[in-house]
Amino acid sequence: MDTQMLIGARLVTGTETEEAILDPRTGEVITTLPEASIAQVSEAVAAAQKAFPGWARTTPAVRSGYLLKIAERIEAEAESLAALEALNCGKPGALALGDELPAIVDCFRFFAGAVRCMTGPVAGEYLEGHTSMIRRDPIGVVASIAPWNYPLMMMAWKLAPALGAGNTVVFKPSEQTPLSALAMARIFAEVLPEGVVNIVLGRGETVGSALINHPGVAMISLTGDIATGRKILEAANKTIKRTHLELGGKAPVLVFDDADLEATVEGLRAFGYYNAGQDCTAACRIYVQSGIYDRFVAALSDQVASIRYGEGDDSLNEIGPLISLRQRDRVASFVARAREAAHIEVTTGGAIPEGPGFFYQPTVIAGALQSDEIVRREVFGPVVSVTRFDSADQAIDWANDSDYGLASSVWTRDVGRGMQVASRLQYGCTWVNTHFMLTNEMPHGGMKQSGYGKDMSSYALEDYSAVRHVMIAH
Ligand code: NAD
Repeated sequence: MDTQMLIGARLVTGTETEEAILDPRTGEVITTLPEASIAQVSEAVAAAQKAFPGWARTTPAVRSGYLLKIAERIEAEAESLAALEALNCGKPGALALGDELPAIVDCFRFFAGAVRCMTGPVAGEYLEGHTSMIRRDPIGVVASIAPWNYPLMMMAWKLAPALGAGNTVVFKPSEQTPLSALAMARIFAEVLPEGVVNIVLGRGETVGSALINHPGVAMISLTGDIATGRKILEAANKTIKRTHLELGGKAPVLVFDDADLEATVEGLRAFGYYNAGQDCTAACRIYVQSGIYDRFVAALSDQVASIRYGEGDDSLNEIGPLISLRQRDRVASFVARAREAAHIEVTTGGAIPEGPGFFYQPTVIAGALQSDEIVRREVFGPVVSVTRFDSADQAIDWANDSDYGLASSVWTRDVGRGMQVASRLQYGCTWVNTHFMLTNEMPHGGMKQSGYGKDMSSYALEDYSAVRHVMIAH
């Protein structure tokens, strides 16, 4: 197992406190890893600063070649990388290998192509005797900070566009799930020029904070909690760093009377519980029209009760555990508080199962009201709430009545209604008759307190580059 960080050309070991890295399926310690020191964070930023001018001057075709090499190396090591994601995050191994790794490889391949078609110089004469041109240039050193729910995927979403656009990077994985990033550190050390990618380990309040406050960092990209996003903005304030924030979500799901009940329930069984609901787009806040409400709750509860987890044979599992004991306790406490209300019915799940690891039963909470905590706050676990609505206006008002604005979905056989409702939802993404489906060509990112900036798609290349104007007098 790789255990070293990457600073410049060197794979190095942190010099500070040892952190235990756990297997959430058993709660056992996999290994302990030391954090980076503040001096090592500075060395990483200095290495990225030193590498920047050379990397920024390479042509898109050259950077594209490097991204393709990274994709090739990930593909070659897909099985062991997926095994690390399973070990450190508790993901069912087959899902990590079958769903996530191909999308990660494709992310690097997509940006390898996209960077070669970035909006080229647009020239024109807008003042007589002067020709103007627009350039898109890289920004500098990007501090990339990732969460624990999709360690390798978040790394791909951040690094591929940042590097493709010509920036250099200091990457910090979550202190809970660093193992796949350390395998990537070895790959980057072999494939990339010195200092283009640096990887430092450690907690947010120590290593993360040193990184975001470093004056040599020109841009900060975070996927994480809203509270962490606020800290990023405070740090960015000092030297006016650019920020790219992908924060939390509480995705509303609007199910109309005319929806295909079977397909909707089947979809929400998958999209509400994927990754044990530890997903900022999880279909967790379901609004169902009165005409099918009772049938929907019965069918969803039946379906969710059949989700397989915690089996000795991992190939049978559809979802894994929560990431930590703390996260499992947090989820359990949300459900405990919700069920205190007389109008709530926990129709399936709602308990911590017997056995080792940080598992929680897939849970459906029916009869929830718009004012309930379970409807308003991000649970980040295998728990969905179901609320009854009468009119489209009411459902749209409730869906938009949230600080979050990342993802949403509408389920109806009436495509016109689907389009109309989609146009009124204040979310970065609205799916119609599906949920959760992402593709590297299309942008992912939020509105409101879910943040701003786009991952994936050519919009990400825009975020990681600066528009510049050059004017020539003639
Ligand atoms: P978190 O904010 O606690 O941690 C995210 C990262 O930020 C970690 O690497 C952490 O060490 C670092 N960090 C924490 N405090 C910091 C500080 N003061 N300075 C610098 N870095 C700091 O989030 P988490 O618990 O790891 O992840 C869960 C959250 O991420 C959820 O809210 C979820 O919705 C969100 N998320 C959003 C998206 C999206 O695309 N919008 C995707 C995945 C997860």
